Amino acid sequence: MKAVWTFALARLAGILLLGVIVGLFVPPAWLWLIVAFSLYLAWQLRNLYLVERWLRLRSQLDPPAIGGVWGDVVAHIVRLHRRKQFHKRRLAQLFRELRRSTAALPDGVIILGGQSEIVWFNRRAGNLLGLMRPVDIGLRIDNLIRVPEFIHYLHSAEFSSPLIIRPPMQAEMYLALQVVPYGAGQSLLLVRDVTRQMQLEAMRKDFVANASHELRTPLTVIAGYLDTLADDAGLDPAWEGPIRDMRAQALRMNSIIADLLELSRLEAADEEAGREPIDVPRLLERLHRDALARTLRPREIALALDAAEGLYGVPQEIESAFTNLLDNAIKYTPADGRVLMRWTVDADGAQFAVIDSGIGVPREHIPRLTERFYRVDAGRSRSQGGSGLGLAIVKHAVQRHGGRLEVQSVEGRGSTFACHFPPERVRAAVVVAKSRADG
Ligand code: ADP
Repeated sequence: MKAVWTFALARLAGILLLGVIVGLFVPPAWLWLIVAFSLYLAWQLRNLYLVERWLRLRSQLDPPAIGGVWGDVVAHIVRLHRRKQFHKRRLAQLFRELRRSTAALPDGVIILGGQSEIVWFNRRAGNLLGLMRPVDIGLRIDNLIRVPEFIHYLHSAEFSSPLIIRPPMQAEMYLALQVVPYGAGQSLLLVRDVTRQMQLEAMRKDFVANASHELRTPLTVIAGYLDTLADDAGLDPAWEGPIRDMRAQALRMNSIIADLLELSRLEAADEEAGREPIDVPRLLERLHRDALARTLRPREIALALDAAEGLYGVPQEIESAFTNLLDNAIKYTPADGRVLMRWTVDADGAQFAVIDSGIGVPREHIPRLTERFYRVDAGRSRSQGGSGLGLAIVKHAVQRHGGRLEVQSVEGRGSTFACHFPPERVRAAVVVAKSRADG
C-alpha cells in the first residue's frame, strides 16, 4: 500500500484511539468516539471543499496546500492538466502549420462533409471557384458549382480520374476537379487550373489535324502518278519492283492519314455522339460476310447474335470501331485460329465482343494499347498494314457513345476486346411483321 494511505489510516486510527482514551476518563466512551469521528469527517469535508473550489476557480486560484491523500489527488490533477495543455498547444500548432501549408498550396483544396457541404477551403480554391468565407462555409458544393457534369461526377462515386470542367463564371478557363474520399463520408475536393495544358492539347490536336489534311493532297497526286506508271506497258521491267513498293507505301501513308483525320475528328467532338438508330445485327452480318470474303484470314470466323436490339449513335463511328476490332482479330490470329464476334444485350446495356484465339498481348502492354501509335510489336503491325491508331479510334468512338472498351488477353492464347454501351444507348429490336405473301 502507498505511504499516504498507510498514513491516512494511521491518522484515522489515532483519532479514534484518542476518542476512546478520553471516553475512559470522562464516560460515556461512545459519545467521545462519535465526537472524534465527526471531527475527522469535518476535516475531510473541508479538504473536499478546498479541492472543489480550486477546480471551479482554477484559473484564479493556486492549488490548495493540503497534505495526505488529498494532496496526492491535487498533484495528479495538476499533472493531468499540464499534460492536456501541452497536447492542446501541440495540436493547435500542428493545425496552424497544416492550414498555413494548405493555404500556400498551388492547388485548391476543399474539405467536404457527409452531405457534400463545405467544411473548409484554402485561398486558391476560393480564387478558382469564386468561393467566399464565411458565407459559403456549410453550403453544399453542388449548389455552388452548378455544372451538370460535376453534379453527375459527385454523385457517381467513381473518382479514379479527375473531371475537367469550364467554370460558368470564367468560361475561358479549364479546371480539373478530383474528389478524394477519406474517413466516414468526408472527402477532399482538389481543384487544379489546367487551362494551359488544355490549350497545348488543343494546339497539338489542331496541328495533327492540319498536318494530316495538308499531306493528303500531295499524297493523292503521288499515288495517282504511281498508278499511271504501274499501268504503263512500256515501263522498264527494272522499275516494276520499286514502283510496286512505292504504291504499297503510298497506300499505307494514305491509311495512316485517314486514321489520323478520323481520330482528330473524334477528339475534336466535345459533346456526346448523336442518336441515330443503328441496326447492329444487320451491320454485324455485313461485316461478317466481308470478313469471310477475305483471302488472308483465320480458318473460322463466327458471328453470335444473342440479341436483336440495336444502338442509338453515329453509324460511321460504330462501324469504324467494330471494323477496327474485327480487323485486329483477323490480323493477329493465325490461319488455323478462330475469331468470334458476339452481340449481347442485358439490363446493364449492350456489348459487342470480338474473341480470338490469336497471338494475344503480354499483360504489361494491355493498359497502353489504346494510346496513339502504341504497338506491341511494331514490325509485325507494320507488316500487317497497321497504323497503331485503330484502338485509339475505337476507344474514342465508344467513349463518345457513353461506353467503354475492355481488353482481356493472354499471350499466346488469344484476346477479347469488348465494347460496352449503357442501357440508354440500346435501341429496342425492330419487329418486322411478316406479310401474308411471305407466310
Ligand atoms: P495496329 O494498327 O498496329 O493494329 P491498333 O491500335 O489497332 O494498331 O492496335 C494496337 C496494338 O495492339 C497492335 O499493334 C497489336 O500489337 C495489339 N493488338 C490489337 N488487337 C490485337 C489482337 N486481337 N490480338 C493481339 N494483339 C492485338
